[in-house]
Amino acid sequence: MPHAPLEITAIPAFSDNYIWLITAGGEACAVVDPGDHQPVLEALERRGLELRYILLTHHHADHVGGMAGLLRHASPEVFGPHDRRIAAVTRRVAEGEVVALPALGARFEVLEVPGHTATHIAFHGEGALFCGDTLFSVGCGRLFEGTPEQMQDSLDKLAALPPETRVYCAHEYTRSNCEFALAVEPGNPDLQRVAHWVRAQRSAGRITLPGTLATELSANPFLRTRQPAVVAAAREREPGAAPGASTLGVIRAWKDGF
Ligand code: ZN
Ligand code: FE
Repeated sequence: MPHAPLEITAIPAFSDNYIWLITAGGEACAVVDPGDHQPVLEALERRGLELRYILLTHHHADHVGGMAGLLRHASPEVFGPHDRRIAAVTRRVAEGEVVALPALGARFEVLEVPGHTATHIAFHGEGALFCGDTLFSVGCGRLFEGTPEQMQDSLDKLAALPPETRVYCAHEYTRSNCEFALAVEPGNPDLQRVAHWVRAQRSAGRITLPGTLATELSANPFLRTRQPAVVAAAREREPGAAPGASTLGVIRAWKDGF
């Protein structure tokens, strides 16, 4: 039976996490980064879905905390990074490997994107990118276990994907990210447009994801660390800031205290 195009919907969890639910017109489904089991089980029940696959991007509790609860109800294949801090992974994957989800007719390529954590991975395929806490809409993850150089390399890797790629981040941080981005690059008209739309979406209680990579490239300061305006903003705080990782490090530290 041919598969319908993938349908990807958000299951909200905690205060600002999204657990992405992937279906293809049948009962089979996958979820990405189930930090909590309860909202996932409710969605499966409500829609009559069978959990066949779980994709994990990194070890943080708000991304894997629902695993034990889900495994009491289902026996999915579980894809995750080579990191012993994450239990219950049935297939550990590395850069360039392909994750096949035959029950959904979908395939994703694995990208290693260290920076937020040392072993963070992302999944790219079917026009979608599941990037966990590496890339956010108009922002990026905190550098808990990596250097600015690693994060710059990781974001460069994501920035090289097709611009029409839809970016499924794991958190609804877009509004506060826009306020920060406007402090970095107040004269960017694309950013101003995105920020205006994001304020309207959030005021109406609506989700801001997924955006496209093209939009991120035009508005996200962490994907623009070689743009003169972003480098200049970094130099106002650290006169020695250079284009690339150095600027990323300065604006990431600025955002940490914003
Ligand atoms: Zn995280
Ligand atoms: Fe997170």
